[in-house]
Amino acid sequence: VAGEISCDVVVLGAGPGGYTAAFRSADLGLNTVLIEKHPTLGGVCLNVGCIPSKALLHVAKVINEADEMSHHGVSFGKPALDIDKIRDFKSGVVGKLTKGLDGLAKQRKVQKVQGLAKFTSPYTIEVDTAEGKKTVRFKNAIIAAGSHSFKVPGFPFDDPRVIDSTGALTLENIPERMLVVGGGIIGLEMAEVYSTLGSKITVVELGDGLIPGADRDVVKVLENRVKKRYEAILTKTKCAKVEPKIDGIWVTFEGPGAPTEPQKFDKILVAAGRRPNGKTIGAEAAGVIVQDNGFIPADKQQRTNVSHIYAIGDVIGQPMLAHKAVHEGRVAAENCAGMKSFFDARVIPGIAYTDPEVAWVGVTETEAKAQGLEIEVGKFPWAASGRALGNGRDDGFTKIITDKNTHKIIGAAIVGAGAGELLAETCLAIEMDCDIHDVALTVHAHPTLSESVAFACEIVDGSITDLY
Ligand code: FAD
Repeated sequence: VAGEISCDVVVLGAGPGGYTAAFRSADLGLNTVLIEKHPTLGGVCLNVGCIPSKALLHVAKVINEADEMSHHGVSFGKPALDIDKIRDFKSGVVGKLTKGLDGLAKQRKVQKVQGLAKFTSPYTIEVDTAEGKKTVRFKNAIIAAGSHSFKVPGFPFDDPRVIDSTGALTLENIPERMLVVGGGIIGLEMAEVYSTLGSKITVVELGDGLIPGADRDVVKVLENRVKKRYEAILTKTKCAKVEPKIDGIWVTFEGPGAPTEPQKFDKILVAAGRRPNGKTIGAEAAGVIVQDNGFIPADKQQRTNVSHIYAIGDVIGQPMLAHKAVHEGRVAAENCAGMKSFFDARVIPGIAYTDPEVAWVGVTETEAKAQGLEIEVGKFPWAASGRALGNGRDDGFTKIITDKNTHKIIGAAIVGAGAGELLAETCLAIEMDCDIHDVALTVHAHPTLSESVAFACEIVDGSITDLY
């Protein structure tokens, strides 16, 4: 039939979940179609998420490090910022990666179809392409439609001064005074970038602290640093009134410690969470169940209620993270190929790439207490790490949480400059069922920050009692 494409596997959405699923499926010999409405592959993560944000955070990190050196006897001048070049650097990084993905798709003969897709039956998807409507007939489908940022009611989103994370990453200009709505990871990462580039930042958060989900002692280290740099961090506070005027957007806050007078901002970044795209793909035509909140339930083999249709990534639930999507994508593709694969990760790490970075995995102390688990905690302060001191950044610590009876590691949290890279060892330790001795007896190179993981384990087993 003209305009009809037949395949073994169709993947709807080319984010980290979708492209991983498509590549794995093609590698397993299946004829694979990858549908994406945007011209480039990579989804949110590559185009307007993980990657561009980290490129900008790198710029911020270098500026801040240069500034800090003045305390250690080296002073640089005030940085001269060329916003166009910074933007080009960021776009260049994204461009290299999306081009790379294109090459990988071609090598594997994954057929890309660009356009908006929706299911029309349990075996067909219709794609609205530039050349007209195309029907993709499939044996298996993998839904990887991702998520979008939540538009908080009451904000004038038609005003260009009100932006979401995608708008923030375009780095159109550096506003003098910026309000960040939402004290979660995305809001705080963008606050870090804009603050370093010169904006005065106010963060407003409905909950009682930043980065809900991580232990408070960990977040405190970040809070201590940013509260000196930002104009205000307003917790337990809501934006009661948002009024766009010619001279700026005026916001009235409600909450303890909030300013009583309306405040004027040049830009407002709304980063108050993301919502799944489950309701936008015509899933009902395929008989796939979509919850009221837009999530599509999937089992450990990534199957939806329709056994030849799988779902992965942000569209199936929390945590909405790229590495989770990638692993789920692999599992879905392998099941399409008749393998018996399961997503059985014990833990999924979470990292805020702020300054300092906040990284955690497995059970938090707060959760352990709420669940009544018997735990032991080893906390190694970076102030006792020669390397952290030498780096001029001893604001941090490494925390290991163990099962009190078995001494197995069940959780970890690290806060400090570069904490995100250090977390991997603890993820492996939990996956491999390590106890504290496995880690403490592993010889870690000196002087490294990674030693702090072993030291935290030694604190639990009592072999470090005083911190020299
Ligand atoms: P997505 O990446 O959302 O991709 C879904 C794709 O499907 C999109 O390209 C979309 O266009 C396409 N699509 C949807 N519906 C249709 C349709 N009907 N027809 C055709 N195409 C369609 N995660 C991390 O792990 N680390 C980070 O550092 C990190 N930083 C982030 C920073 C920001 C600013 C943001 C916004 C997110 C960040 N995330 C991060 C989250 C991460 O981007 C997501 O978890 C990840 O992209 C999810 O992958 P996915 O494959 O499920 O979906």
